[in-house]
Amino acid sequence: MYPARFEYHAPASVDEALELLERYGDEGKVLAGGQSLIPLMKLRFALPSALVDINRIQGLDSIEEDDGFLSIGALVRHKDCERSEALRGRYGVLGDAAPQISDPIVRNRGTVVGSLAHADPQGDWGSALMAAGAQLEVVSSSGTRTIPLHELFQGPFTTSLEPNEIATAVQVPDPGARAGGTYLKLERKIGDFATAGVAVHVSFDNGKVGHAGIALTGVGPRNLRAETAEAALVGAELDDDLIKEAAELAAQAAQPRSDHRGSADYKRSVVRVFTERGLRKAAETARGEEQ
Ligand SMILES: Cc1cc2nc3c(=O)[nH]c(=O)nc-3n(C[C@H](O)[C@H](O)[C@H](O)COP(=O)(O)OP(=O)(O)OC[C@H]3O[C@@H](n4cnc5c(N)ncnc54)[C@H](O)[C@@H]3O)c2cc1C
Repeated sequence: MYPARFEYHAPASVDEALELLERYGDEGKVLAGGQSLIPLMKLRFALPSALVDINRIQGLDSIEEDDGFLSIGALVRHKDCERSEALRGRYGVLGDAAPQISDPIVRNRGTVVGSLAHADPQGDWGSALMAAGAQLEVVSSSGTRTIPLHELFQGPFTTSLEPNEIATAVQVPDPGARAGGTYLKLERKIGDFATAGVAVHVSFDNGKVGHAGIALTGVGPRNLRAETAEAALVGAELDDDLIKEAAELAAQAAQPRSDHRGSADYKRSVVRVFTERGLRKAAETARGEEQ
């Protein structure tokens, strides 16, 4: 099916894009990689009267470490993250998530920030970046604000972004020298959305857990933070008993539904096993980073 009629704009600057979004209000939509928006328009689930294509705007396509944050610009594609050396080791949760997004065609065009704005409960970046404690940098004609990811996701395909706002980057706080993590995803076949996914990102301070981030994909109405499991880890030594306890708490935080991908019980059990594996990998990576 073809999309309904729409106007197309390709502004060369953020200011110009913001003016267009102000003009169209609810009727305008930002276009980044188009990997989610265009299919929705073709199915006529989305009927914007204007698209504001941000792909010609300079300066939004880099991954940079600056001022205590790793910043991933709005035009950084999944494939850029797959290849980036910056997203290994301490930021392993991000580097491990990137190659698990769909297939090479989608990864070539789709953007990390577009994934966050799309807010699919089965989106992998939402969990990986929420575990890493990330925030979205957002601009509108009235200024700039940041939104922590756990406040961004309101429900399935629903965020706290306003129609006149553009997300310019996602910022991940520097976790310090001893940190590690991973993203584990169960899919029915390569390129599928997650049956269940778990993101784990842990930093260590004097042998104890400093920050702990655990987030879940595909087992709730949005990417979920396993907050009770995170709280159990902070300030403690990551031994075997604690790993098992946190994994059980993460499984309890999941809100899975039985569907064609598996039963609710099965998905909960995948969350438990992946959290355990993720925490062991985080501890291993952090030890390696220290040497
Ligand atoms: C076949 C297929 C399989 C896929 N499999 C997976 C998968 O396994 N895992 C996964 O996580 N994802 C998957 N995806 C989704 C893919 O990752 C998309 O790239 C991503 O969801 C959206 O990014 P985009 O840049 O393409 O955004 P677009 O499609 O351009 O936009 C998506 C939404 O975000 C808004 N938006 C985009 N950028 C901004 C911005 N900078 N500021 C404000 N709003 C913005 C748009 O207005 C739109 O509402 C799949 C997609 C396809 C087509």
